[in-house]
Amino acid sequence: MEDYPRNLTEFEARFGSEEDCREYLFRLRWPDGFRCPSCGCGKSWPVRKVLLQCAACGRQTSVTAGTIFQGTRSPLPLWFRALWWVTTQKTAASAWGLQRVLGLNRYETAWTWLHKMRRAMVRPGRDLLAGRVEVDESCLGGLDEGLQGRNLENKALIAVAAQEDGRGIGRIRMKRIRDASAESLLSFVEECIEPGSVVHTDGWRGYSGLEKEGYVHEVTVVRRQEKSASELMPRVHRVVSLLKRWLLGTHQGAVSHKHLDYYLDEFTFRFNRRKSRSRGKLFYRLAQQAVAVDPVTYKMIGHPVPESKKIPEPQDIGVT
Ligand SMILES: [Zn+2]
Repeated sequence: MEDYPRNLTEFEARFGSEEDCREYLFRLRWPDGFRCPSCGCGKSWPVRKVLLQCAACGRQTSVTAGTIFQGTRSPLPLWFRALWWVTTQKTAASAWGLQRVLGLNRYETAWTWLHKMRRAMVRPGRDLLAGRVEVDESCLGGLDEGLQGRNLENKALIAVAAQEDGRGIGRIRMKRIRDASAESLLSFVEECIEPGSVVHTDGWRGYSGLEKEGYVHEVTVVRRQEKSASELMPRVHRVVSLLKRWLLGTHQGAVSHKHLDYYLDEFTFRFNRRKSRSRGKLFYRLAQQAVAVDPVTYKMIGHPVPESKKIPEPQDIGVT
């Protein structure tokens, strides 16, 4: 089922009530019919309209329990508007913008909602990259720069994988890694690339175990000044430079380590769908993933940080 509204008019006609939204989420979460999260039984009966009681074990559950919507006191149609707005923004979504569009009283609410949605943007283990994939690490410097001045300790190391698509870039994955050890790099590769794929890296020994893990390893050694790293691994380097521009544009560098992974997920979500003409399909994907990821609490997300009001340009995520 790829059933989604194609434009704002269809969206508004469709998701006006709590029941409309609930029913949509139900079909995304249980496309083959309800399954009890405890025992897997497929039989249930409704309790007070919003709950389902398992016929076998008696557990009561709701379509929003165990998803990013868990425990929300806001109406689902408002959440749906948030999902729609986030996916119709071409380059980035700011908490200020979301607050304004939804008419939320508090900036903090918009900020928390955005972070919840970012957690649904990339599902690890799904849609592994395949074919030929470039992998490299990169250092993101001066995080928190906008807030506290330049701080070398605030550099973060990320691993980036970029699928080759002819001479261009296909889909990407990126993640913050603890260090450039074999352990960190190999687990990143295993998390996002299909075994049997060609993985193209530089000569760093952290990658030397790739063959053993079932990949075809292609190594290009960067010799002294002959060719720069960006020429040898052009896709990864292009992605990293877009990412840096995007982070500066959206957030003026004011992204803390704690939140970096989720901004990487937002960037990846937007980058991988940068050529998609159907915004409705993006909404569908985000809603689908929103009922598939674990709930997060305000505590896990942490204190709101003011985000930039400036919206990045389309070229900041590679749309030309
Ligand atoms: Zn059960």
